[in-house]
Amino acid sequence: MSECIFCKIIAKLIPAKIIFEDDEILAFYDVNPKAEVHFMIIPKTHIESMLLLQNNHQQLMGKIILKANELAISLGLKSGYKVQINTGVNGGQEVFHLHVHVLGYKG
Ligand code: 5GP
Ligand code: ZN
Repeated sequence: MSECIFCKIIAKLIPAKIIFEDDEILAFYDVNPKAEVHFMIIPKTHIESMLLLQNNHQQLMGKIILKANELAISLGLKSGYKVQINTGVNGGQEVFHLHVHVLGYKG
């Protein structure tokens, strides 16, 4: 098992408040929320960051974005939300397993 903390969450070796999962993606709440609602969606395959995306990730990334919108709406962010993908050292990324942040306030 890799030392990647998000891979450990996927493997259920570390607990997380999971919102949604299927065979390709996992959505869970950020442990240190920066908004009323703050969750992340990750691919189950270990991709370090956006910097390493390939053409064959097109379907996966599209699925993550559509799921981000679906979950945001279902969690009450009906008036909008922010999507953030910190990428690489200069992008402020701290966990090197690609993740899409969704942040917002209900209402
Ligand atoms: P980054 O700065 O890499 O885009 O964001 C990493 C995010 O992962 C941070 O917002 C941080 O709070 C969150 N995080 C780090 N470790 C854990 C963890 O063990 N569980 C959960 N749920 N979130 C984590
Ligand atoms: Zn990983």
